[in-house]
This record gives sequence, structure tokens and C-alpha cells, in this order.
Amino acid sequence: MTQPAQFGTFFLPGPTEVRAEVLEAMLRPMLPHRGATYEAMHARIVDGLQSVFRTQRPVYLMSCSATGAMEMAIRGAPEGPILSLVNGAFSERFARIAQSCDRSTRVLSVPLGDTPHLEQVEEALVEGGFGGAHFAAVTVVHSETSTGALSDIRAITELAHRHGAMCLVDSVTGVAGQPVETDAWGLDFVLTGSQKALALPPGLAFAVASEAFVLQASVAPSRGRYLDVIEYEEFARRSQTPNTPALSLLYAAERQLEAIRHAGIEARWARHADMLAMTQRWVESVRAKGVDIAYLCRAGERSATVSALTLPEGMQAKAVVARVAEAGYVIGAGYGALKDSTIRIGHMGDHSVDTLEPCLAAVERALR
Ligand SMILES: *Cc1c(COP(=O)(O)O)cnc(C)c1O
Repeated sequence: MTQPAQFGTFFLPGPTEVRAEVLEAMLRPMLPHRGATYEAMHARIVDGLQSVFRTQRPVYLMSCSATGAMEMAIRGAPEGPILSLVNGAFSERFARIAQSCDRSTRVLSVPLGDTPHLEQVEEALVEGGFGGAHFAAVTVVHSETSTGALSDIRAITELAHRHGAMCLVDSVTGVAGQPVETDAWGLDFVLTGSQKALALPPGLAFAVASEAFVLQASVAPSRGRYLDVIEYEEFARRSQTPNTPALSLLYAAERQLEAIRHAGIEARWARHADMLAMTQRWVESVRAKGVDIAYLCRAGERSATVSALTLPEGMQAKAVVARVAEAGYVIGAGYGALKDSTIRIGHMGDHSVDTLEPCLAAVERALR
């Protein structure tokens, strides 16, 4: 029933490999999205996602890619300037969205591969935005998929709160792949997309807003319509979405969340931690054989879902990716400014050390 893989096994940092069982769930017939059957399914999906996000709050089921949820966060954010912490392509996207929603935005950048420096963040929060106005919100990317850097969203949220700002977290390659404690860490807004660590097809975004975020959003001036957090909150109370949801994708999500619940979210995090550990050991062993590859990020700041590796001088990412593809594995070239000089291996979703090992072996052969 399912098509044979056309491109090989996916170790891209998105979209990720989707299991046949999950793809097959999408073949179910349509159902009316205003009715008890839909509402029951919606409630089951939200319940599954609540244990993934570790929250008691409703999780919004959005029929758009993750960027839509990033825009929802900005549009619903409290009035006032926004501090955007930028350490790669996706955190830069967050800043651009804030700017294009006409928000006064200050960008605090660190070099690619780094994570935001807490002292600098605090300094910026004290200084404030243009004219010294106090920041209303901070944007941060948990796992910067373009570099593989993992930021301390718990500490950054604490800092933001201490200075009266809310913290908006893009955890697209964090959620479902490494610890995210939405409620315990007091995250004001946190979002992910379906096609990363959740190992679903692209097309859905999932987001959680704190009660405080929703309260203040009700007076936010330009929330727009399609991405209005208040609409989502109201419809969530009756297990519905404001507009027609992407039903087939929700069928897939329902199936996948059942499997995730069965295995347990902590086991899922541990499986990802094991894949990072294996990749780190593999990099060391390849280096010991004289191939000069290296992690872009410092140890201890590496995402459990994606590794960005700097290639030896003169080696082109495109060529390495093509050779790995011939062996049947799809990995990523670098992103943005790192396009040619790095490769990215997405070790996330339903992969394990068992499926990752042959992929790393193929990358190793391609590097020789
Ligand atoms: C993939 C990704 C996005 C954007 O995802 P789309 O689904 O393409 O909108 C945003 N942030 C991060 C960190 C990502 O990895």
C-alpha cells in the first residue's frame, strides 16, 4: 500500500522519516469537523500532546507549518518592544516575523553555533528597547536547527520574567525530542511543527500559550484572524479548531501520539539522548582516523535532535550529501550561511541508535 522510499531513509532535520503505519492512518475517510466524532478525536490528540509538552493547558492544533505558530506568538504578544535572541537561521526568522508584524524589535545576536549569553540577555533586558522602553517579550529558539545549538529556555524564561517580559519559545526541534517542561518552566508560548521530532508529515503546528499569555492577548491590538490565539483558545474549550482542520494529518497525529504515549515521553527523550551520544562518539572516532570534521557547537550545548558538523577544508556539503544519498540516506547540507561548509544529520523522530548507525557509516564512507 505504501510507496517504496524514493529518496532513501530520511535523516534530514525535517521533514523526518514517517512510519508506514502513520502514513496509512491518513487514508481514513473524512468526517465532519463540527461534531462529536471529531471532538473526541481532537480531545485524544490534545491529551497526547499535553503529555509531550508537559502541560495542563490546551494544545492548539494548527493547520499550518510551524512558522504560522511563530507568527501567532508574535501577534498575540504583549504590546511593547520585542527582544529577539538570534543564533541562527530560525531565530533570525522569529526576529523577521516580529519586524514584519510592525513590532519594534531589537536583535541580540551571537555567532553561529553559540547559544544566547545569559549576561548579555540580562543586560539587554535592563537597557530596554528603543528609547529605553521595557521589553514586553523575548523570542528564542530552543534547538536552533540550522546549527544544532540547544539554548537554555528555562533560564532565559526566568530572566525574561524577572524583567517583566514574556518568553516566546520556538521548540520545533525540541518538543518530543528532548526535555520541554511547559508548565514547570513557566513557558509563556511554546510551539512545534509536525515534521520534526514528532515524525509526522509536514503541515501541522502545535502550540501552547500560558493562561497569562492568553489573558493579555485579549487586548492585543493586531492579532489578525487566522493566527488569533484567542480564537484558538475559545474553540479549544469545545475540542474544535476555528477553521477546517487538516483532517488527514490529524489522523496521522492521533496514531503517532498513541505510539508515543505507549513508549512514554521520557523514554523518547532518552532515545534521542542516546542518538546524540552515538553521533558524538562517531565524530571522535572519525577524527581519530584523520578526517577533520567537528561539531559546530560546544559540548553540553548540543541538541539531541540535530548535529551540524563542519567539514574538512575544501570539502563541499553538496557533494557529501549526494554521496550519502547514493547509499540510501538523506541527510541535510548546511543552512543559510553554513550551506557549503557544514552538513546536518537529523537524528530525531522515530529513529534510534540502531537505524542511525548505518547512516553514520554511510556518512563516514562519503567523507573519505
Ligand atoms: C523547521 C523549523 C521551523 C519552521 O518550520 P516550518 O514548518 O517550515 O514553518 C522553525 N523553527 C525551527 C527551529 C525549525 O527547525
